[in-house]
Amino acid sequence: MALKSATCIQRAAAARSEAFLAALPAARVGTSPVASMRVMLPSSSVQSSSLFRTTIQKAAVGRALSVKVSAVNGSGLKVDLRGKKAFIAGVADDQGFGWAIAKALAEAGAEISLGVWVPALNIFKTSLEKGKFDASRKLSDGSLMTFSHIYPMDAVFDTMADVPEEVATNKRYAGNKNWTVSEVAESVKQDSGKIDIVVHSLANGPEVVKPLLETSRKGYLAALSASSYSLISMVQRFGPIMKEGGAVISLTYNASNRIIPGYGGGMSSAKAALESDTRVLAYEAGRKFKVRVNTISAGPLGSRAARAIGFIDDMIRYSYENSPIQKELAAIEVGNVAAFLVSPLSSAVTGHVMFVDNGLNVMGIATDSKTLDRPE
Ligand code: NAD
Repeated sequence: MALKSATCIQRAAAARSEAFLAALPAARVGTSPVASMRVMLPSSSVQSSSLFRTTIQKAAVGRALSVKVSAVNGSGLKVDLRGKKAFIAGVADDQGFGWAIAKALAEAGAEISLGVWVPALNIFKTSLEKGKFDASRKLSDGSLMTFSHIYPMDAVFDTMADVPEEVATNKRYAGNKNWTVSEVAESVKQDSGKIDIVVHSLANGPEVVKPLLETSRKGYLAALSASSYSLISMVQRFGPIMKEGGAVISLTYNASNRIIPGYGGGMSSAKAALESDTRVLAYEAGRKFKVRVNTISAGPLGSRAARAIGFIDDMIRYSYENSPIQKELAAIEVGNVAAFLVSPLSSAVTGHVMFVDNGLNVMGIATDSKTLDRPE
């Protein structure tokens, strides 16, 4: 009986899978800045049928989101970050979680500064200046999100004394200065005084495509350094320039707790460390600086970093098929939860790993597993 109903689930999942697969190429198109504008267009402007299906799906998400945003900006309970200053590390385009968090925080009225990885800074600034991000900068009142400061940053280095010669003389770093974590914190202090919000939305694992069994010590430690210790370093250095009642958030992934083959190179270990450190930092920074520290465990998103891992489309499809809420995760859904987590509305929440993944983490089986299918 149980197996029979599992078979039904499987069939329904297979049918949905076909529809989803048919929509996928267009879904990829939908991540470009132009396509994200298309989400806002009326359906009459939509031409092809597969694009139509995807646009409907995305537009539904867009509508749901604009409802959420207008709800928080309405006359009831508000995420109100007016007068708050936020520093967000880990934005280099308009596709990732960092950008979506910036957007949600800006929507709630916060002033935003960015820390952009030095090798990605030029292209980010040029794209911004050329208006490439204008569509995705648009806020619900029609204005464009602005950044008070954009700092070069490399979260792997705490001070210039830590920077090896080959990085200091690397042409991708030429022309930039004050980009170590302590120097960025000092620049933020000089430019903005005390700040309220610190966001860590960055990760890097040079051997991420290698299974843990094949990961070198160097690759493993590099993943931990860039993706986990960087949070400790930021809390150490930004904590003293944060206002009491401030909040720190980071981004994690459930590969910390569950085996996700393909998320290798020590990145699973790095996320486990990040989550553990979130709890310890919540206590230590809570006592020392009176700030809160939380992390968001996000579902799969086709960001630039995720594409480098190589199997993100499979993970998005898997998540779509198996999550309690069957839809593709939109980055702004993570942004909205981040806005809540850094707002006074969550003043008693700290040391927490908050899942924003359409509920995938609570599933005990994959409903689309072939093994659930039994011939009649
Ligand atoms: P992303 O590419 O938008 O963001 C990663 C950022 O890290 C980039 O801007 C990159 O320039 C920056 N970065 C890399 N090394 C750096 C360094 N040494 N110093 C400073 N910045 C550096 O991709 P994303 O997926 O939005 O990633 C943001 C966070 O979300 C990461 O922590 C990631 O692990 C996490 N996350 C992503 C997914 C997903 O499916 N995309 C799921 C769960 C969690």
